[in-house]
Amino acid sequence: MKHLCISCKNEITTGFHPFCDCGGMIDVKYPLEKVHLHDSPNPFIRFAELLPIESFHDRLPVARYTPLVVQKSLKSVDAHRIS
Ligand SMILES: [Zn+2]
Repeated sequence: MKHLCISCKNEITTGFHPFCDCGGMIDVKYPLEKVHLHDSPNPFIRFAELLPIESFHDRLPVARYTPLVVQKSLKSVDAHRIS
């Protein structure tokens, strides 16, 4: 993973810097061919290799995905509609 300025292409090698000294925004470039998505219900663990941190396994927060709710009918949606 590399942190590069989108304006001057300067690489930031340490710390979190949303902006470069030149004022350009810092973008994160990932070697996507090397990223492995972990099988976990915690999105921080699943996408851990895409987070801009070096060591993560013992510091990620506990979280879950927002559950999906299947709507089988529009009747209940219409009952709550403001007209
Ligand atoms: Zn820059």
